[in-house]
Amino acid sequence: MRHSEAAAIFNKDEQKVNWHDQALWFVRNNRDNAVNKVKGWEELRNLGSQIKAHVLSNLDNYLIQFEENAINNGVEVHWAKDAAEHNRIIHQILKENKAKKLVKSKSMLTEECQLNPYLEKNGIEVIDTDLGERIVQLAKEPPSHIVLPAIHKTKEEVDELFQEHLGTNACGGDPQYLTNQARKHLREKFIHADAALTGVNFAIAETGGFVVCTNEGNADMGTHLAPIHIACMGIEKLIPKQIHLGVFLRLLARSATGQPITTYSSHFKKTRNGAKMYLVIVDNGRSEQLSRPDFRSSLHCIRCGACMNTCPVYRRSGGHSYNATIPGPIGSILSPGKDLKKYSTLPFASTLCGSCTDVCPVKIDIHTQLYKWRQIITKELPQPIVKRMAMKIMGIVFASPKKFARIGKIARWSLRNFPKALINAKPNIWSNHRDLPEGQPESFEEWYKKRNKDE
Ligand code: SF4
Repeated sequence: MRHSEAAAIFNKDEQKVNWHDQALWFVRNNRDNAVNKVKGWEELRNLGSQIKAHVLSNLDNYLIQFEENAINNGVEVHWAKDAAEHNRIIHQILKENKAKKLVKSKSMLTEECQLNPYLEKNGIEVIDTDLGERIVQLAKEPPSHIVLPAIHKTKEEVDELFQEHLGTNACGGDPQYLTNQARKHLREKFIHADAALTGVNFAIAETGGFVVCTNEGNADMGTHLAPIHIACMGIEKLIPKQIHLGVFLRLLARSATGQPITTYSSHFKKTRNGAKMYLVIVDNGRSEQLSRPDFRSSLHCIRCGACMNTCPVYRRSGGHSYNATIPGPIGSILSPGKDLKKYSTLPFASTLCGSCTDVCPVKIDIHTQLYKWRQIITKELPQPIVKRMAMKIMGIVFASPKKFARIGKIARWSLRNFPKALINAKPNIWSNHRDLPEGQPESFEEWYKKRNKDE
């Protein structure tokens, strides 16, 4: 389904669209307030971007350094070239340890690899323990946002979902009651888990340790109770030294939710007595993205979600309309790199206003990259005849000031004289949700010249 078609489904419920829009704009405002309090925020962004660019240019060395240090810390390290290998490795680890129940904290990488259905098919019970993730898991839906996975659900919908799956009482969407019920339900799962899986926010080459950021403490609860900890990370998650963590922890929480720091920034390095720790380092198309000079900086992404919260298209079309693991502006750069045809409409789901680029804490030139994908897609994939003709005509008109002025005159006259029903007829999809302005008797150029003369 094209992005616009999927967005039209979300747009059917106008009340929900407005609420979704406002909820994300509220988060964007929190981000602005938090950022404005930090002196030298721009310097911090520059530093974050430069550290990431340095890591990507020396990725081979840092990966080897990280692996060596992690092994010396007693961690078993695995490498996966793609999603299938990642899933096989995790299943094998669970099998070797006779683990049947897995608790997971939020990991977009495991979403990308479709780990849950793979493990469930192989008889493993997988429980997502982040509250938002658990909600979408119960609803059998993918997350719609990378930081706020259930932002598309109202509290009333969560109430109904919990009644159906957890046997709770109807509470009219009382958040306090629902959170307490979720806590009770998840405690039970934590206590009986055989293994815990986490993502990795930052992996430190210098020490072989890594950091997982959560606001609910669910990663800690899982890994402290279960005897096995499996951590999965993309190859781009590295930072060179412990000292660089200060840069990224400050950038991440403020950009994501406006908090000065994530509630839990949990540092993992060595296994505790009697427990085992595994790391799975995954490529899954990242090397290919690294090899594209125009798009390699998209691998700087620290998954804060700020570009989604600010994007006017994302806010009003919902995360599911992107039909990709990472939705929104950054997802629209990453996804076409994986499957150009499947995700060919995503780079067009943008106004190119550049707000995403403005808020990105690691200074990815998001809207420029979206524009570059558009050029590639238009060149490499067959375009509808109407679009090709329209572009050809526009090319001819825009190349000649005389033709431009003449066509403008005809268009303005038509807008004034043709009936609205004809102007807004079905083929003009632009007018599905908006009206064209009244045609003016003179062009801007004519008005401007006249004004200068009068003055
Ligand atoms: S691209 Fe930038 S703003 Fe968007 S999620 Fe990644 S780090 Fe955040």
